[in-house]
Amino acid sequence: MDKTIDDIRDLPSLSETVKAHDLGANKKLGQHFLLDMNLTDKIARLADPLSGYSVAEIGPGPGGLTRALLLRGAEKVVAIEMDERFIPALAEIGDRADGRLEIAQGDALCYNIAENLAAPRKIVANLPYNVGTKMLIDWVTASPIFWDQLVLMFQLEVAERVVAQPSTPHYGRLAVLCQSVASCRLAFEVPARAFTPPPKVDSAVVVLEPLETPFSDLKTLGRVTQSAFGQRRKMLRRSLRSLAEQHDVVLEDWLEGAGVNPQARPEILPVSAFQKLAQTLKSTT
Ligand code: SAM
Repeated sequence: MDKTIDDIRDLPSLSETVKAHDLGANKKLGQHFLLDMNLTDKIARLADPLSGYSVAEIGPGPGGLTRALLLRGAEKVVAIEMDERFIPALAEIGDRADGRLEIAQGDALCYNIAENLAAPRKIVANLPYNVGTKMLIDWVTASPIFWDQLVLMFQLEVAERVVAQPSTPHYGRLAVLCQSVASCRLAFEVPARAFTPPPKVDSAVVVLEPLETPFSDLKTLGRVTQSAFGQRRKMLRRSLRSLAEQHDVVLEDWLEGAGVNPQARPEILPVSAFQKLAQTLKSTT
């Protein structure tokens, strides 16, 4: 391991790598690179300890975070990158990683992390903005939860939606789903100027760790939150009516059984109330 660490440290700088391989950013693939190894190390540090863990890194690009994860001792990093232009630069890291780096070229949305990576697993990524939220929802609604930690960079607004508390502007479906299975925290913000090229908005890194007993019926919870927050200005007795009809339950009985005020709006309900709504809907059908 010590030798691979020296070898990785001796690689050309990330800026030199981008230049040498002519890796201009493709906006359609959400490419905004982190070329400062102090910053990629700060992100990788959130995933400590890494020794003994397999790490899925989505969208490694030129490999700044990949290098940091290997330098911090990850047992195995599987780097899943859609854009084939990055493969040679990533292979240069792989050549010095003594088998600890595997490169998978393709769409991470179609990649089965649970099947392809040995447990225990972490997912660490500076996510492409266009598909980041979809990936997060896939991971938190997976049954069973197959990851031990998520360390993810999002645009700041998405990060705020993950950690939001009731009665605050960002509270909604994403907060309820994520907080039903994991403890969620916003670790630090990253200004747009830290990326090459800079995106239009600032970013932030969030850390999710599975709860001891994650809520299990994410499917029903997903339906309830979709209906409730799909019409977030409306009282629940309005927004949940058609879901109640679809499940053939009497709306008033359902809400009463869950201990939820029919006149409440979704943004004031705690996560536990949505879980109760999901459980009650399930048990009355
Ligand atoms: N991790 C690199 C960094 O921090 O410098 C690059 C991050 S950049 C925000 C997002 C990366 O995800 C790009 O390299 C892009 O090509 C890749 N990407 C975009 N969509 C993807 C997908 N569906 N599957 C895998 N990689 C994807």
